[in-house]
Amino acid sequence: MAETPYDVMIAGMGPAGITAAIFAQRLGLRSVVLGDIPGGNLYMIESLMNFPGFPGGVPGTQFGAMAFQQAAQEGAEFPMARLERLTHAESRFHGVDANGQGYRASAAIAATGRVPKRLPVPRASMKGIHFCSICDGPLYRGQRAALAVVGSDNAAAQHAVSLSRIADQVLLVCRSSRLKMDAAHQRLIAAQPNIRVMVGHEVAGFEGSDVVEALVLKATGGEQHAVRVDGVFLAIGWTPNTALFDLSVDRTAEGYLKTDARLMTSFPGLFAAGDVRDTDMWQVVTACADGARAARSAAEFLETR
Ligand SMILES: Cc1cc2nc3c(=O)[nH]c(=O)nc-3n(C[C@H](O)[C@H](O)[C@H](O)COP(=O)(O)OP(=O)(O)OC[C@H]3O[C@@H](n4cnc5c(N)ncnc54)[C@H](O)[C@@H]3O)c2cc1C
Repeated sequence: MAETPYDVMIAGMGPAGITAAIFAQRLGLRSVVLGDIPGGNLYMIESLMNFPGFPGGVPGTQFGAMAFQQAAQEGAEFPMARLERLTHAESRFHGVDANGQGYRASAAIAATGRVPKRLPVPRASMKGIHFCSICDGPLYRGQRAALAVVGSDNAAAQHAVSLSRIADQVLLVCRSSRLKMDAAHQRLIAAQPNIRVMVGHEVAGFEGSDVVEALVLKATGGEQHAVRVDGVFLAIGWTPNTALFDLSVDRTAEGYLKTDARLMTSFPGLFAAGDVRDTDMWQVVTACADGARAARSAAEFLETR
């Protein structure tokens, strides 16, 4: 198969991949960005309120479209197809997209993001079901809201604590008979009088016509009952999109790509940026910062070869 040659191949068109493309082009690297949704997960953000420079917020789709346009103006190429597989042979990365087109590059940047795990229950995609308290918690500010967090690990604790400053009541629902968070997080939870913990309950479904109005809970071996809530935040995990990387590369137990300080993975020349990498903050601003750093590190890597 004929392969088009590039300096850097970028998988993913979200904020990390697009920023990587802008920086790569400006550093003089010919770059190709594989993906089919300009802006990646930005389309899910109704109004991006926490990115500097946009007082009053900006619709995620608009931000994504503008970033895409900027990268295209810098000369990055967008075949508008997802990357099916990335391999490495003879000192080059080789990629094949969904249309069967081949690409090769001396460096590659993984910016494929992650997808939230959903509950395997009816109506699990209703409005009012969220995955990110930093992003969507402020929607409930000043509403005397009753919110629920589903999960039991440290991430669930952090969601519950940050929401307890916004909502009147926060219900933390945990399927197992005890919380899986560490002792420090348990103390944080215990210190918030408006957080109620309910262990040994699983979510059986949601009620509401359009927007979620109640959470249907089922006690282990017991009856179902509904609890009124204005919103639900799921903290039951995410799946990083890494199946396409057909390379031996170090990952965390959850599958995130491990990187060093320059954002290079354990596979020389493969960098990772944004939500797909092992990080502790999954936000647009951090994804953009990662994209910039990964592009610069890729340029340095190519210079030393
Ligand atoms: C509902 C919701 C609300 C959010 N609100 C906010 C907010 O208010 N503020 C904020 O800062 N952050 C928010 N976030 C988080 C933010 O969207 C992410 O942190 C950010 O988009 C990460 O950027 P990324 O480029 O790493 O990944 P993504 O934006 O996920 O982009 C990666 C893209 O790569 C694609 N991809 C996957 N596999 C392949 C492949 N094989 N080939 C090509 N492409 C592939 C994915 O489909 C995706 O489109 C929110 C997230 C969600 C889900």
